[in-house]
Amino acid sequence: MRDTTQPEVYPQRDEHPSAGMETRIKSITEPVCGMECGKRPKILIIYTGGTIGMIENPDTGALEPFDFEYLIDNVPKIRRLDYDIDSFQFEIPLDSSAMNPSHWQDIAYVIECFYDSYDGFVVLHGTDTMAYTASALSFMLENLRKPVVITGSQLPIGEVRTDGEENLITALQVAAARDTDGQPMLEEVAILFENYLWRGNRATKYSADNFNAFKSSNFPRLAKIGMGITFRNDVLWRPTDDAPLRVHYGMDTNVMYLSLFPGITETMIRHAFSTPGLKGVVLKTYGAGNAPTDSYFIKAVREAVDRGLVIVNISQCDNGMVVPHRYETGSVLYGAGVISGHDLTSEAAITKLMFLFGQNYSNDEVKRLMETPLVGEMHK
Ligand code: ASP
Repeated sequence: MRDTTQPEVYPQRDEHPSAGMETRIKSITEPVCGMECGKRPKILIIYTGGTIGMIENPDTGALEPFDFEYLIDNVPKIRRLDYDIDSFQFEIPLDSSAMNPSHWQDIAYVIECFYDSYDGFVVLHGTDTMAYTASALSFMLENLRKPVVITGSQLPIGEVRTDGEENLITALQVAAARDTDGQPMLEEVAILFENYLWRGNRATKYSADNFNAFKSSNFPRLAKIGMGITFRNDVLWRPTDDAPLRVHYGMDTNVMYLSLFPGITETMIRHAFSTPGLKGVVLKTYGAGNAPTDSYFIKAVREAVDRGLVIVNISQCDNGMVVPHRYETGSVLYGAGVISGHDLTSEAAITKLMFLFGQNYSNDEVKRLMETPLVGEMHK
């Protein structure tokens, strides 16, 4: 069992909480390919845990994370790729349901430390919270000009029918892909899963069983992956300036979801809005952003907004977006001071709120930036 004491504010890098990370950064493992570096793509695999590297505990039958060497031994084909591949393993590989912002900071920190030394990064991660990590990293890694491809699997890599081998190899190929000028094809955080490449902050895990476990309901895939990999230049994210990578580590977890359902009571709503320290709420509403117009509800929302709470409206529907004034029921919410999350995924909405509060923006700035696309996370 891990220590369950959690900070509410995960501070900036100069106060990085992961003691010992610097020492481990220096002791990166031997190259997987064991060859000399040439002009071949240089990729760093960051292994955080997840089903992909798990093996069955013979006593309990439960799957438990295992180390990177085991994983690589099960993918001998990786050595046939003409890449220089190194790896960095989290000290304790995690089931991703145990991830919190300190782990996002660790991943971002490894990328920052090795940014100039590698052409691309592949993050091996459990599927359960992969979309949260992908969203958080997309905000933390400002001016990213290199691929960060996150993948994992539904079946452990040691199983005969594993999807892990193919996912890992395809993720490496995506991370290594260059255009004719030698520039990376991908300059953003993406999720690669079963031949689908999604923008990280647009993706959601939608299946606990299927090999095709992720989808992006409001944004097309970034590449067509079949016998070859064809990137879609028309949808790839391109940073607008040449500024160097800037990593923002601050994350403030004084945020929460509140999902509406017919019958939700005033007590529940007021209780949620009065959570001590709470700064932001992602309110999951119906359809195009609709909510009850009952006076108890609107009054509770207005009072919370007046107290300084930032309330962001996203839809419980995966597809489509919040249209504030399509119905009276949505319009009233805006009158009460709620802002629109447009077509943000749940994962992008909550991590963006954490990120913006973590950068110490004022409430007005948080509201403005929540309605402004930062890294292709929303349509506006
Ligand atoms: N519970 C696992 C995790 O998220 C599931 C997976 O990897 O697919 O780490």
